[in-house]
Amino acid sequence: TFTAKVYSNVLAAPDVSVLRLRLPAGQRAKFEAGQYLQVRLEDGSARCYSMANPPHESDGATLHIRHVAGGQFSARVAQLAPGDLIQIELPFGNVALAPDDTRPIVFVAGGTGFAPVKSILDDMLKKRVQRDITLIWGAREPQGLYLGAAVERWQKQWPAFRFVAALSDTPSDATDGAFAGRVDEAVRKTFGSLAGHVVYCCGSPPMVSAVRAAAAETGLAAEDFHADVFVPGPSSTPV
Ligand SMILES: Cc1cc2nc3c(=O)[nH]c(=O)nc-3n(C[C@H](O)[C@H](O)[C@H](O)COP(=O)(O)OP(=O)(O)OC[C@H]3O[C@@H](n4cnc5c(N)ncnc54)[C@H](O)[C@@H]3O)c2cc1C
Repeated sequence: TFTAKVYSNVLAAPDVSVLRLRLPAGQRAKFEAGQYLQVRLEDGSARCYSMANPPHESDGATLHIRHVAGGQFSARVAQLAPGDLIQIELPFGNVALAPDDTRPIVFVAGGTGFAPVKSILDDMLKKRVQRDITLIWGAREPQGLYLGAAVERWQKQWPAFRFVAALSDTPSDATDGAFAGRVDEAVRKTFGSLAGHVVYCCGSPPMVSAVRAAAAETGLAAEDFHADVFVPGPSSTPV
């Protein structure tokens, strides 16, 4: 367990905080891309958040936290100020993606499900991985796709990088080129066949179920679907 210090806390969307935590001097955050940490609350319970920073940025952890109405931690996260201290433990979670896999990969993120995807893609960039990459990122409204700068960086570094924005609650004449619909519908629309691909999906339980079904219908082998599901409450699978 570490006592981490809030370094910065920025509202990236009306309901998403990007919280940067620093570890105590001399301490390094050891984790692999796609893993998560647990925040320990005063009552002893824990909340899981995926690291959005890549492992080589090991002086802290950057979290993307959606404000859940009435949520014990997330509804108050926007009030955290630089210098505030919070207790964290890491790393947790299995890393499903094989580093030597060269097959085309499709990332599907719902809202703050973007956080582990960002860590994985920044890590792949650092390792100069050359691979056919598609990112499908969904939100209700344009502001829910809260980190366009990261997407632009990947597009610049990987000329073949394909990005599909999916907006489920925006009139189709106001999506500004984005797909009007849910991410599972965007998967069906984007791919005639997913045979031979690998899919990594992250978001809420219903979103992940819908994408799993869409991927299976589109020819993806079941063992090539990997997901991190943002189920409410603590998960107890330490590494
Ligand atoms: C492995 C893992 C990684 C996660 N990573 C992230 C992340 O990177 N970013 C992120 O924003 N969240 C993430 N989560 C979800 C996060 O751990 C919390 O569940 C969430 O922030 C709510 O915590 P809370 O204390 O605010 O709400 P609580 O006080 O725990 O819950 C309040 C009420 O809201 C409901 N609720 C909780 N979460 C949701 C939800 N997502 N949608 C709808 N209702 C909900 C609860 O059932 C409860 O009724 C992750 C979860 C897991 C298991």
